[in-house]
Amino acid sequence: MITFVPEPHLLDSPRGRYWPAAPGTAPRDIRTARPPAAADVVIVGAGPAGLAVASALWHLGVRDVVLLDRDGRPCGRFFDRIDTLRQRVLRSPYEHHPGVEGYRDCELLDFARLHWGLLTPVERREVRMAQSGHRSVVPVDVFQAYCRHIAGLHHVDEQTWRAEVREVLPGTDTVTVRGDGFATTAPYTVLCLGEERRAAPAQWWDGPATPPGVSHWDEPVPPGAERLVVIGAGLSAAHLIANALGEGKRVDWILRASAERYQCADVNASFFRAEGRARFDGTSWEDRLTLMRGHRRASVMFEFRPLFQRAEADGRLTVHRGRAVTALPQRRAGLAAVRLADGGHITGDHIVLALGTTVSGGERLLPPDVPATRDGWPDLDEQTLAHRNAPRVLAVGAAAGMVLGPAARNIDGHRVATARVAATIAAGLGAKDRPRVTDGRVIAHV
Ligand SMILES: Cc1cc2nc3c(=O)[nH]c(=O)nc-3n(C[C@H](O)[C@H](O)[C@H](O)COP(=O)(O)OP(=O)(O)OC[C@H]3O[C@@H](n4cnc5c(N)ncnc54)[C@H](O)[C@@H]3O)c2cc1C
Repeated sequence: MITFVPEPHLLDSPRGRYWPAAPGTAPRDIRTARPPAAADVVIVGAGPAGLAVASALWHLGVRDVVLLDRDGRPCGRFFDRIDTLRQRVLRSPYEHHPGVEGYRDCELLDFARLHWGLLTPVERREVRMAQSGHRSVVPVDVFQAYCRHIAGLHHVDEQTWRAEVREVLPGTDTVTVRGDGFATTAPYTVLCLGEERRAAPAQWWDGPATPPGVSHWDEPVPPGAERLVVIGAGLSAAHLIANALGEGKRVDWILRASAERYQCADVNASFFRAEGRARFDGTSWEDRLTLMRGHRRASVMFEFRPLFQRAEADGRLTVHRGRAVTALPQRRAGLAAVRLADGGHITGDHIVLALGTTVSGGERLLPPDVPATRDGWPDLDEQTLAHRNAPRVLAVGAAAGMVLGPAARNIDGHRVATARVAATIAAGLGAKDRPRVTDGRVIAHV
């Protein structure tokens, strides 16, 4: 097997360039008013998964769609997290994008080629690599401009409402989605909730509030912290450590495992292909569970290894392997402190928890009897990704992991899930090839 390790210069694409919007796709202000009372489809979550579903439905003639997101911007949380970790390139290739295949949409690689003049020489070489079928690196800047393009093209901006959804109530023919001061009823609801950051164990500190001197991987690190303590073994931890070392800080890295685990990618590439998914499809629930546990284990990309080895050798990085955290007590001598199971303490100016994520399966939104979770996973129909106990509520994203395998949480997995979900909804609504009228205008099918 060939190990893909991008050179450091490939990982440093510029961020924040101006990308001209395609004619007619200028982003509009996200509405802050109350969402409408009725629609054909409600999508909860406007991340890459929600964007993919809305775009696919648009092509299938389903135009009366309401997207609800607590953040309000399409893909807002995804890019906020990436920027907080200062990640400049994606971990997935050019083929993975939320656009719709089989229509006249331009795909991510076409989009990069269309904006050739904005790309750096390094980025152009990567585009050529992708064109000739080689593994290459996608700049976050290009991916974000592409998501804006897709959102504009499929009128997603106009359909997105800033709203926290608190309840999803399935009925016989419709589903009602409720939040503070609004309720929207539709024949179908798609949950595209993504993943929340994993909470620290309750015994680590008293009370609900995170103690002073402690933050999470998806929050900014205070600039004054010269000695950082990072807890966690995954990619977020690696970014935090690399950023801190790059600023000349010292880092203590606490790992429960006996050693850090380096890999090419967080998901084995075979699961992005039909034959890889079929391997997962054909197995028992128990085998799938074992596979998912193995594939969701924290790992760090190979490209961090040289930096970490150098920093450990010269004392800027101290790695505490095989040491479990038991508590984050109050500050000791003005420093933030971590107590370990072996009785030791580690102190620093600031502690960052990089404990990974947990899948949002809708169990907090749906009535308790509906999600029918099994080992923590929602019980979904294998073909349609509808909740077996609530066939009008469907799922795209990490929640579909036990159907689609480890790739369900990634952008390419959203594409596979979206194809099934959008087709199910369009068929259910009888929408295919039916001309639709919006604001008095007939919107032609593409
Ligand atoms: C730092 C980082 C880098 C990553 N890089 C890659 C990569 O390069 N390639 C790749 O394929 N994958 C990557 N991933 C995995 C990535 O999370 C997914 O590909 C993608 O974000 C998942 O999209 P999503 O729409 O399912 O979830 P999200 O992007 O998390 O979107 C879900 C949205 O739903 C909203 N929401 C949830 N609950 C509610 C509610 N009750 N009411 C209203 N809104 C709600 C959230 O606020 C959020 O905006 C990365 C993940 C992280 C954290």
